[in-house]
Amino acid sequence: AESFRDRKVALFGLGGSGLATAHALKAGGADVLAWDDNPASVARAEAAGIPTGDLRGADWTGFSSFVLSPGVPLTHPKPHWTVELARAAGVEVIGDVELFVRERARLAPDAPLIAITGTNGKSTTTALTAHIIRHSGRDAQMGGNIGRAVMTLDSPSSDRFYIVECSSYQIDLAPSLNPTAGVLLNLTPDHLDRHGTMQHYAEIKERLVAGAETPVIGVDDSYCAAIADRLERAGKAVVRISKRLPLTDGYFAENTDLMEATHGAYERIGFLEGIGSLRGAHNAQNALAAVAACLRVGLSLGEIQAGLESFPGLAHRMEQVGRLGRVLFVNDSKATNADAAAPALSSFPRSYWIAGGLPKEGGIESLRGLFGRVAKAYLIGEAAPSFAAALGEAVPYEIAGTLDQAVERAARDAGQDDNGDEAVVLLSPACASFDQFKNFEVRGDAFREAVRALGAEPVGVK
Ligand code: ADP
Repeated sequence: AESFRDRKVALFGLGGSGLATAHALKAGGADVLAWDDNPASVARAEAAGIPTGDLRGADWTGFSSFVLSPGVPLTHPKPHWTVELARAAGVEVIGDVELFVRERARLAPDAPLIAITGTNGKSTTTALTAHIIRHSGRDAQMGGNIGRAVMTLDSPSSDRFYIVECSSYQIDLAPSLNPTAGVLLNLTPDHLDRHGTMQHYAEIKERLVAGAETPVIGVDDSYCAAIADRLERAGKAVVRISKRLPLTDGYFAENTDLMEATHGAYERIGFLEGIGSLRGAHNAQNALAAVAACLRVGLSLGEIQAGLESFPGLAHRMEQVGRLGRVLFVNDSKATNADAAAPALSSFPRSYWIAGGLPKEGGIESLRGLFGRVAKAYLIGEAAPSFAAALGEAVPYEIAGTLDQAVERAARDAGQDDNGDEAVVLLSPACASFDQFKNFEVRGDAFREAVRALGAEPVGVK
């Protein structure tokens, strides 16, 4: 990061992305001093040649910037005090997205940058947008909150497209964020523990679209609708999207059709019919956002539709992992509580449901309204007895114990199902995984393996 050559930069948080950021700063000639609460992280950074020092005792005179690693909450007690001291000494406090934005400004200000935020659907929209762009043969660099630290992406050049998922925290620490297209999907009262009030949370999210050349805003909730109106009054060319309302101008969904509205005249510009990875109204919102952003950075409608149809979906989120005859296997291992399992259960009229693991408070009581969609349940892990009690007489179930057993038995029963043309075996556990697996990813991988072992065919993407 040449923008910081010969400047003194402090950095807190030496996890994977913090370390990557420290390396990028050092490679660009900055005078870095890094720290972390975890001695092992400090030792690892030192071994990699990054100068370290406890920032709590730092003399801030002479420092130009203080970089906080993504994932270190501003309210974290130790950096919080340090942040106050740094700010009092006139040192700017920024994050890695800010570093990236400055590198882009220096090296390739015209490199297309799509920044994406919202309460829900960020990762899906980010992955979908990157997929569409990559599928069209362009160089799509995806990072930010979705996983890869932005400072580890290939360095900005005008033929590279950047798709960056931003948490509130990353927006808060990126005052120069100026994407070509800035996407705000939705705002619902969530994550308020970290941001205090809804108003403050909404204000931070608004900054991403306010700084964008083209703001793309989902107007299905009142907070986002107000933000769209406000930016428009301030002279911005706002692009509105809606998953349910015909708009006068913008993009909206009519069932599975994607529509463009221009002064009240409608045109069908794409469709989601038959695309398994984008089922459901919430995915129409995500798809419309991706479509609007891709159009803004120069893709054609044909390229966009081809990308939508070939989107494999995100791993472990309603991921279609295989098909055996009429049985479709769906991996929704990411659903680690009942709320998260609800969309998957709602998506299929009839499923053979594998659930259980380490139970969360409330269990599956809140899913009672969806029990009618379950042909049979296969219960695993520590939650099995309590889930069995909740299902009671409402749903046939068996205690399968392990995931492998559950897959085998669910596949057998679903194979004999003669209701309709598709039977679905759904892993959507409504539980944490830690009683039987390292994490939800390992659980999802084990499901995929078990399905493959049955001889299932990969699902052709459409
Ligand atoms: P995020 O990255 O914002 O956490 P994801 O794309 O990982 O969101 O989706 C997580 C879950 O949130 C999905 O499994 C689905 O249940 C729900 N979801 C996805 N998109 C939306 C949306 N646009 N509106 C509401 N809920 C959504």
